Amino acid sequence: MLNKKTILITGANRGIGLQLVKESLNKNFSVLGTFRNKLKSKELYDIKSNSLNIFEMDVINETSILNVSNNLTKPLDYLICNAGINNGFGNLFDSDHSHTSMLNVLNVNVLGCVLTIKYLKKNLNSNAKIVLISSTLGIQQHIGSNATIYRASKAAVNNIMVSVSEELKSENITVVSFHPGWVRTDMGGANATLSTKESAKELIKSFENLSFKDTGKFFNYDGTTIKF
Ligand code: NDP
Repeated sequence: MLNKKTILITGANRGIGLQLVKESLNKNFSVLGTFRNKLKSKELYDIKSNSLNIFEMDVINETSILNVSNNLTKPLDYLICNAGINNGFGNLFDSDHSHTSMLNVLNVNVLGCVLTIKYLKKNLNSNAKIVLISSTLGIQQHIGSNATIYRASKAAVNNIMVSVSEELKSENITVVSFHPGWVRTDMGGANATLSTKESAKELIKSFENLSFKDTGKFFNYDGTTIKF
């Protein structure tokens, strides 16, 4: 079909990313999903659709992102930086906050977004929308001491979102971040309030409602703005 919107979603093999793929296909988008490990991507591989193309990509491996960039045949209308990790909900003094695990979180969540945008920028359509999946845990005014480094990573994601939005204003590219809600995934856990379907359906609807006047803003999954 002509004029299909094209969307690329990172971390598309499970959780919110996988459901974003399914909801985008329901909306008749042309969908590009990335995964980093084929063995952990059965559900993504099992989706039968001519509108879905999948690529191996690690958001902290520049070569793998460049490889995707070089293999894209259509410009992107939406670039969704969804891939992320959490080293745990402890504080700085807990064992889940080892130097290595803290570096990993900052690397994947912060630099993963930066590298994804840096190397896929040339694949963007004019008027494209870049969405960074952030979290309300990254809001600066808070009273929590848990998930210390994950919080910091998402605060950085929101800060980078603002910088990139300023950088790309002259090109009419919209750059925003979104909180997906508290979602039942491996990361969100079984007690979370939303299913992946409830989150992803609203997220896609909200992405479709984005326009350039929204650039630089942080949104909840339902499209309402959040102060950060
Ligand atoms: P999951 O843990 O279910 O999935 C994380 C996804 O990110 C997987 O596809 C994983 O791939 C991928 N990923 C991790 N590291 C890399 C990497 N280096 N390169 C490429 N892909 C990678 O998490 P969710 O679906 O819950 O989270 C998605 C996003 O939403 C994250 O950014 C998270 O921080 C954010 N978020 C989630 C909330 C929730 O309640 N669930 C709340 C607020 C924000 P693999 O299978 O290979 O590990």
